[in-house]
Amino acid sequence: MGERIVVLGAGFGGLELCTTLSETLGEDAHVTLIDKSDAFVFGFSKLDIMFRGAAPDSLRMYYRDLAKPGVRVLRETVTAIDPEARTVVTDAAMHEADVLVIALGADYDMGSTPGLAEAGN
Ligand SMILES: Cc1cc2nc3c(=O)[nH]c(=O)nc-3n(C[C@H](O)[C@H](O)[C@H](O)COP(=O)(O)OP(=O)(O)OC[C@H]3O[C@@H](n4cnc5c(N)ncnc54)[C@H](O)[C@@H]3O)c2cc1C
Repeated sequence: MGERIVVLGAGFGGLELCTTLSETLGEDAHVTLIDKSDAFVFGFSKLDIMFRGAAPDSLRMYYRDLAKPGVRVLRETVTAIDPEARTVVTDAAMHEADVLVIALGADYDMGSTPGLAEAGN
C-alpha cells in the first residue's frame, strides 16, 4: 500500500491537488479529502445570484460528482490537527496520514479592521 495522503479542505487548493494526484497516481493515490461541506461553490458565481437571479442550489458542484480515481471524499468537520504526528480529529473520526495537507482556506479577522463587520460588503 502506498502512502496515505490526507488533504484537509476541498476548496481550490485541495481540489486542484487531488486532481493532480489522481491523474498522476490513479487508484494507487490513496488520498482522503475531507471537507465540512458537501459541495464546492465558485466564489465568483455568486454574481449569478445577485445579477442573474440564479438559484443558490444551482451553483453547487457536489463533491460526489467530482470524485476522482484514488480519491475518497469525506464530509466531516476538522476540529483538531497535530502536524507533527500527522493526525487529524474530526466530528466523526480520527485520521492518520503519512502526508498531511492543510488547505482549509482563511477567514476574515473582523476584529482587526474596525467597522468592517458593520459596514463591510
Ligand atoms: C466572492 C469571492 C470571489 C472570488 N473570486 C475569485 C476569482 O474570480 N479568481 C480568483 O483567483 N480568486 C477568487 N477568489 C479567491 C479564492 O476563492 C481564494 O483565493 C481560494 O478559494 C483559496 O483557496 P483555498 O483552497 O486556500 O481555500 P478555500 O477555497 O477557501 O477552501 C477551503 C475549504 O476548507 C473547508 N473547511 C474550512 N474549515 C474546515 C473545517 N474546520 N473542517 C472541514 N473543512 C473545512 C471549506 O469548506 C472549504 O471548502 C474569490 C473569493 C471570494 C470570497
